[in-house]
Amino acid sequence: MPENQYELFKNQLLKHRKQIIAKIEEIDTSWSKTLRESTGDISAYATHLADLGSESNEREKETRILDREIKHLREIDKALKRIYKDNYGNCSFCGEEISDKRLNAIPETEYCIKCKKNIEKNHNHIA
Ligand SMILES: [Zn+2]
Repeated sequence: MPENQYELFKNQLLKHRKQIIAKIEEIDTSWSKTLRESTGDISAYATHLADLGSESNEREKETRILDREIKHLREIDKALKRIYKDNYGNCSFCGEEISDKRLNAIPETEYCIKCKKNIEKNHNHIA
């Protein structure tokens, strides 16, 4: 892969990484805020209890988002590592080149489309 293309994917990954971290921080901020509010005075606590039903649903949803984002972040970090080690763009399974089209769509991908499909078929949920 030409150097300038590496650079392109790297920038894309770094940009994506920032967006994910911003999203994680957003959830973190809202959680710390809830925590502060719930340790406040007793009337606030009562309101908090009344709201708990909907709030825990909300938190569950956020936990799922958080899980997904953290997993995504790991994939991006792994892809960045591959760029720095100069083996980006090759399938980690069969070693063949991953198509530019696929890399453009999912720059953090580790597998070519063929292997990815095989892995999914085997219910192996890695990247
Ligand atoms: Zn492959």
